[in-house]
Amino acid sequence: MSEWTRPRHLPEALEILAAAPGRYRVISGGTDLMVERHLAPERRPDAWLDISGLWELQGLQITEEGLRIGAATSLEAIRRHAEVAAHWPMLAASAAVTGAPPIQNRATLGGNLCNASPAADNAPVLLAYGARLEIVHHHGTRWLPYADFHQGYRKTALQAGELLGAVWIPYPPPRSRGYFRKVGTRAAQAIAKVSIAALIEAEREGMIQCARFGMASVAAVPCALPSVSQYLAGRAVRDIAEAPVRRGVRQDIAPVKDIRSTAAYRLEIASRLVLEAIDPRAARKKEDGV
Ligand SMILES: Cc1cc2nc3c(=O)[nH]c(=O)nc-3n(C[C@H](O)[C@H](O)[C@H](O)COP(=O)(O)OP(=O)(O)OC[C@H]3O[C@@H](n4cnc5c(N)ncnc54)[C@H](O)[C@@H]3O)c2cc1C
Repeated sequence: MSEWTRPRHLPEALEILAAAPGRYRVISGGTDLMVERHLAPERRPDAWLDISGLWELQGLQITEEGLRIGAATSLEAIRRHAEVAAHWPMLAASAAVTGAPPIQNRATLGGNLCNASPAADNAPVLLAYGARLEIVHHHGTRWLPYADFHQGYRKTALQAGELLGAVWIPYPPPRSRGYFRKVGTRAAQAIAKVSIAALIEAEREGMIQCARFGMASVAAVPCALPSVSQYLAGRAVRDIAEAPVRRGVRQDIAPVKDIRSTAAYRLEIASRLVLEAIDPRAARKKEDGV
């Protein structure tokens, strides 16, 4: 039997982690870990540190700069939050397609990121919105752009003794629009074959100022599309050609074949989704054969 510790305050949790590096496995909603516990019993830790009772890691706050979401906030709370739906609709959408309502009731945003699956549904949206992470240790707090968090397959920038404390998301710039799509086998309870979030900031004449993307299930880690972003910056939508966008996508992602899909399918779908994100009307016209 593993030991179970449930601190009531964040400083207490951080002291416990610092006093015995590597001993505790942090558990939040448990929706990933309880599955792992059955599928990989050899990975069962000596001791669990249950952070679900830490009020400091709970809830959503709207500030002048944007939104702060405590790492142990449930996806259900995020999905239902009126301000999230109004200002960060892609996040409301990604929380709503993570598993299904029973999972969303327990699953937390922090757990989704720290589990570090390349298919994590909320990861692309946070990349597109330019989120920052608040990482806490008993010595203090450090900040990290979410884009620097994933350092390899299932490897994050969290150091021993650290917890993800919160996710900060700035307000999207004026005149920006978002695009989010998850492609899976079913509408619910399906891990993504490919998913994408894009935040496109355009001037009135259709000139793209800045385009930021996040994709999941197309590489070892959730990834941005730097080559595509670079090609789009400063270009009018009408001047954007399909070939360089497809070339950029090929450079930026590294899809693999697995039980859910083939690498070729993922590459093709990723390219089509990026083109649709850039110009949804053009992509639809092409589909209609107009
Ligand atoms: C039936 C089912 C369907 C699912 N469908 C989807 C899906 O469609 N899309 C999807 O993305 N995921 C899906 N998941 C996976 C899972 O629900 C999510 O990843 C969820 O957000 C994990 O959150 P949690 O709080 O339950 O994490 P936990 O299981 O508690 O923890 C996950 C990992 O994160 C670490 N961790 C958690 N919080 C912190 C923190 N604050 N600081 C440091 N480390 C931390 C833990 O140590 C562990 O390694 C599904 C799971 C199940 C069982």
